[in-house]
Amino acid sequence: MERFDAVICGAGIVGVSAAYHLAKAGIRRILLADERPPLSFTSDRSTECYRNWWPDPAMLALMNRSIDLMEALAEESGNVFRMNRRGYLYVTADEGKIAEMKAASDLISRLGAGPIRIHSSESSDYQPSQPEGFRSAPSGADLLLGNDLIRKHFPCLTGKAVAALHARRAGWLSAQQLGMYLLESGRRLGVRFEAGKVTGVDTEGGKVRGVRLSSGVRIESPIFINAAGPFLKEVGKLAGVDLPVHTELHLKAVIKDALGVVGRDAPLLIWNDAQTLPWEDEERAALAEDPETRWLTETFPPGVHTRPEGGGTDILMLWEYHTLPMDPVDAPPLDEQYPEIALRGLAAMLPRMREYFGRMPRPQLDGGFYTKTRENRPLVGAMGAEGAFVAGAVSGYGIMSACAVGELLAAHITESALPAYAADFAPSRYDDLEYRKKLEHWGDSGQL
Ligand SMILES: Cc1cc2nc3c(=O)[nH]c(=O)nc-3n(C[C@H](O)[C@H](O)[C@H](O)COP(=O)(O)OP(=O)(O)OC[C@H]3O[C@@H](n4cnc5c(N)ncnc54)[C@H](O)[C@@H]3O)c2cc1C
Repeated sequence: MERFDAVICGAGIVGVSAAYHLAKAGIRRILLADERPPLSFTSDRSTECYRNWWPDPAMLALMNRSIDLMEALAEESGNVFRMNRRGYLYVTADEGKIAEMKAASDLISRLGAGPIRIHSSESSDYQPSQPEGFRSAPSGADLLLGNDLIRKHFPCLTGKAVAALHARRAGWLSAQQLGMYLLESGRRLGVRFEAGKVTGVDTEGGKVRGVRLSSGVRIESPIFINAAGPFLKEVGKLAGVDLPVHTELHLKAVIKDALGVVGRDAPLLIWNDAQTLPWEDEERAALAEDPETRWLTETFPPGVHTRPEGGGTDILMLWEYHTLPMDPVDAPPLDEQYPEIALRGLAAMLPRMREYFGRMPRPQLDGGFYTKTRENRPLVGAMGAEGAFVAGAVSGYGIMSACAVGELLAAHITESALPAYAADFAPSRYDDLEYRKKLEHWGDSGQL
């Protein structure tokens, strides 16, 4: 029987961040247990993007904090995880949406995302983003109005675009490198990784005593942290807790953009309008005739998005046109139609995507599971027996929030001062009847 001060189940980005922040807070003997190699499950599948652009004030504060922490880590490490600040560009061809976009932006700006700048002439002082690095970029957002101005800065976009909102405290990074930096820094402070599945959590008199691993090894520890990602619910049950989470499958496709349709310096490009997919008349008629394929001729939701990846010609393509709740499995089932549908959807925003119709570059397709609460806020704090904690349910925002989530968890465990948003993410929020009532009317705050 080995002894540790804390055992963390799950070495995804949340688990490694929790280990790092606990070690930084002075806890020395930390065991990080995972049946898979570190950072190899959901944390290896993401788009690796971040933004502080959130309509939920608690989420916005969490992301601002997480970005502060990531920027500090980027500074101290010489930016080993290549954090950039290219931003997210939300594009619409619908004049009717401009007022709504302005109102939503004003609200998010007032919540603390930074100022809004509106540009409507080509002589505007709009400051384009730098392709690399994260320093000295503006915060807040720029709203570009009018096609000439939009295409002056983003020539790859459609002539139909009428407004483009550029959220500026946003961009992407290498999640693997960020995770490895946290893990290696944690290791130097005493974090140990153990390959193995956590199969039991021992409690006595309402307190955590330790965990059991599939190898038969027993570990003694007064602290147990459930950071099991999509298996949060299953691992919660080992500690006698039924966590209010569910999982959804989300896919991602990568193709080689040999024609250079997406500028290599582009931000994350998001099409904000619903649409019907572009098909030749004959194709459309044939698809509409068959009940199995008719849906391909019907209305698709807003949100198809893309960004350039790496130094070659790769681009990532994502679109949640179907939400598919399902229990997590080792190898997520892949929908072979997904890349073509995403590519066709992107043609609304990037007309030259049509040049790939009929000669689609061979896609790489993968996917993972979002783990979500009803209101799409994470779970960070005490669960069940004394000494048991949870950090997860980070949905489609686990990379961007991991640093602040790890820091928050460490503050709970070491009983340090908690930030104002702590109560919004603690599992105990569901004990509050008023909060549960609010949930009935909670909108979907979206997670690009
Ligand atoms: C297609 C896609 C795109 C995304 N894009 C973004 C994005 O742009 N930005 C962003 O911020 N986020 C994004 N995300 C979300 C992000 O990837 C996740 O929120 C994040 O990786 C979750 O991290 P985690 O540590 O909670 O889970 P995981 O990375 O899944 O880690 C959990 C670990 O727990 C281990 N485990 C489970 N049960 C046990 C057990 N019993 N014993 C031992 N180990 C166990 C697992 O093996 C696993 O390694 C995206 C996700 C997907 C799928």
